[in-house]
Amino acid sequence: MPKFVYDFTEGNKDLKDLLGGKGANLAEMTNLGLPVPPGFTITTEACRHYLEHGTVPEGLTAEVDAHLAALETAMGKRLGDPTDPLLVSVRSGAKFSMPGMMETVLNIGLNDESVAGLAAQAGDERFAWDSYRRLIQMFGKTVLDIEGELFEDALEAAKRDRGSDDDGDLTADDFRALVATFKGIVRDHAGREFPAEPREQMDLAVKAVFDSWNADRAILYRRQERIPVDLGTAVNICSMVFGNLGQDSGTGVAFTRDPASGQQGIYGDYLQNAQGEDVVAGIRNVVPLTELERIDKASYDELLQIMETLENHYRDMCDIEFTIERGKLWMLQTRVGKRTAAAAFRIACQLWDQGLITADEATDRVTGDQLAQLMFPRFDADRLDGVTRLTKGMNASPGAAVGKAVFTSEKAVALAAEGVDTILVRRETNPDDLAGMVAAQGVLTSRGGKTSHAAVVARGMGKTCVCGAEELEVDVKGGTFIAPGDVVVREGDVVSIDGSTGEVYLGEVPVKHSPVVQYFEGELRASDGDELVQSVHRLMKHADDAARLAVRANADTPEDAARARRFGAQGIGLCRTEHMFLGDRRQLVEQLILAEEPGDREAALAELEPLQRADFTGIFEAMDGLPVTIRLIDPPLHEFLPDLTELSVKVALAGDAASPQDRRLLEAVHRLHEQNPMLGLRGVRLGLVISGLFAMQVRAIAEAAADRKKAGGDPRPEIMIPLVGAVQELEAVREEAERVLAEVAAETGVNVPALIGTMIELPRAALTAGQIAEAAEFFSFGTNDLTQTTWGFSRDDVEAAFFSRYLDLGIFGVSPFETLDRDGVGRLVRIAAEEGRKARPGIKLGICGEHGGDPDSVHFCHETGLDYVSCSPFRVPVARLEAGRAAIEAVASDHR
Ligand code: ADP
Ligand code: MG
Ligand code: MG
Repeated sequence: MPKFVYDFTEGNKDLKDLLGGKGANLAEMTNLGLPVPPGFTITTEACRHYLEHGTVPEGLTAEVDAHLAALETAMGKRLGDPTDPLLVSVRSGAKFSMPGMMETVLNIGLNDESVAGLAAQAGDERFAWDSYRRLIQMFGKTVLDIEGELFEDALEAAKRDRGSDDDGDLTADDFRALVATFKGIVRDHAGREFPAEPREQMDLAVKAVFDSWNADRAILYRRQERIPVDLGTAVNICSMVFGNLGQDSGTGVAFTRDPASGQQGIYGDYLQNAQGEDVVAGIRNVVPLTELERIDKASYDELLQIMETLENHYRDMCDIEFTIERGKLWMLQTRVGKRTAAAAFRIACQLWDQGLITADEATDRVTGDQLAQLMFPRFDADRLDGVTRLTKGMNASPGAAVGKAVFTSEKAVALAAEGVDTILVRRETNPDDLAGMVAAQGVLTSRGGKTSHAAVVARGMGKTCVCGAEELEVDVKGGTFIAPGDVVVREGDVVSIDGSTGEVYLGEVPVKHSPVVQYFEGELRASDGDELVQSVHRLMKHADDAARLAVRANADTPEDAARARRFGAQGIGLCRTEHMFLGDRRQLVEQLILAEEPGDREAALAELEPLQRADFTGIFEAMDGLPVTIRLIDPPLHEFLPDLTELSVKVALAGDAASPQDRRLLEAVHRLHEQNPMLGLRGVRLGLVISGLFAMQVRAIAEAAADRKKAGGDPRPEIMIPLVGAVQELEAVREEAERVLAEVAAETGVNVPALIGTMIELPRAALTAGQIAEAAEFFSFGTNDLTQTTWGFSRDDVEAAFFSRYLDLGIFGVSPFETLDRDGVGRLVRIAAEEGRKARPGIKLGICGEHGGDPDSVHFCHETGLDYVSCSPFRVPVARLEAGRAAIEAVASDHR
């Protein structure tokens, strides 16, 4: 029978799958000899069993009995004992931290008898009754599903009766009365009495924690953070320590480095005479952690010592929860801390410089997603005319966000659905605001510190956040906030918030390149940059050295090609030619389509050819010395013709006066109309049906290459045929292409070798890759179409229609258009790569399409042994970093 319960002395930090992050780290701290209140952890396996069967697994109760008895012996107290009660907290804790998403209940074990015992032991009646009412409140909300506001309103009413807005002013009698009120709320709203029996309290709380795994907000958070749905949560039973025993007690959170900037120092918040979530909830004014030195020097010194121990032990920035009970420090939680993207890069380099981690480890500590965040635009501080500076809050999560002020999560969600950008403005956020935080461009709160819910969650999501803007008076019900100088901002007014500085503006502030983009653009030298730019430079360099995969760009214009090259692209993996048929050239395409005589068609092609040639010359120049893969025209030709409805209306309205040209066009549009254009006359099929079209493009490529060569350049063209499903298609096109290449070589006297290859974007192509490789010098996996054709999804139709449902159902954890589906599409890629290489050793293999810039997909390409990935110019640095990380991780796992 599996073991379902582990004492804190039995676990360690590597058991996160089983004990959850919180439980594994509590065990690790216990074994490091740090002051952790004793307790034990119920495994995620027990949770999974419970969620699947609706009952706890057999044997769990007996194991809990045994561990509870041992805990009671160790503490010398019995759970809920009337004279000297042991109290415990029942705490959720999944493998991945989900701040505020799941439930925790404190003070389990209190009832009408044991409250007296607690009062006697502590010598503090008020404290005991305050703890009791907290239990009923948390238990009622979390375990019995009672609306939390009912309790909060009763508490507010009690304070009002006292003429105060601080619970500090409430007396023992006030809390005793509140306990009675709270019990009444439970009776009225849960249809049962508050359970007095301590063990029943505990067991019900355990189940509630299990159930909280499937709370709506937890589901949403997991989807957002791509946390698998089936992990379940562990439950930690931890003996209580009390931060609410007077001014010599308190509770706090700390970071070993600034989670926003990465700077070393003492960061955190402390709240005297308070318990548990009072700090994180941002509901009372906290003091900076450095104040603790003045309040309780001994505890402060011990805390700093422990912070250093933890950072050296975890070799990373740690985030800590602690409580001081009458001058005695207790550690309640630690984990490797969430941090902003900028902090991640800085911290990785700092730890590398300190010798705590290697260069490889440092590079693996940052991600492509974080790099992408550093490339977001910034506000341009030189262009603030026309906007009003409202106030400055705390720079909780960086970025520049502009949007309409909204005051509720619902409104943010509703406007996002219409494509409207919003800033969610709240006094403070709570877990119910999650949907709004996801939907909004940024979050602005008037209360709470850098460790408040808003700050922690926004940082985790990479969302811009300014918190604790205390000068703002936020009126959620009225839908306004008032800034200093009586500036009233209403729902719908545009505001700009700067999460890097904390500034808040009324109006839209223009944006500019971030320093990291300036660095990639070559406008800023690494050595002239700040610590962040230098960190990015060092880690990018190490990633480039480690990488095996090359990174190319998808670029259709000389400008894009040039930028891609500045950003580190090693060539073009996909140059689309269809846009070269738009604008003024559309006429020529119409002429081509309408041609009745071969002569008309040739005339149209002859006019297009020099235009195409000029396009290619510029691109070859920008990518001199590097490969440029040019895809011959791919989309169905009717995409270049006028819209069917518009043209029909035009012709109908004109009646007899309609021009013959329009009539012929309309007829052509009808003729070319397709039920399923994605599966219709496109790609190689066009080349085989419209004679001369591909030949014209090949000629343009060859002549451009010859021109460049004559001008002293080094063009490296690769001609790519789209949508091939059978080697015969490719052979036919290839023959024609080779003939044209030879003609141009003869005409110009310059021979520029050009590779001829194909896209693999149909299942049949992947499955017959061995044959196709006979005629292809390279394969480029077009994983967008390959995903569409493998799943039978038309992307434009399915994404809006049912993908969110599929994500809810867990059919996939992430859209297969975002991250390559390894099992299906990935399998086809592997088969094709393997069989292609067998038929033609040395065949060049790459991937083009959006997956080329997706971190997880880049790792897949590395593992599959492809030669390069190709992505949009702006994603090139992201792909470079991930290509390096993939190589580093592969080496590390070989050593394991
Ligand atoms: P979360 O995952 O939301 O941080 P926790 O389980 O850490 O939830 O608990 C919520 C709050 O209660 C935290 O501030 C934590 O430090 C505090 N807390 C939890 N267990 C105890 C305990 N045994 N004694 C005192 N405070 C506790
Ligand atoms: Mg909590
Ligand atoms: Mg916690």
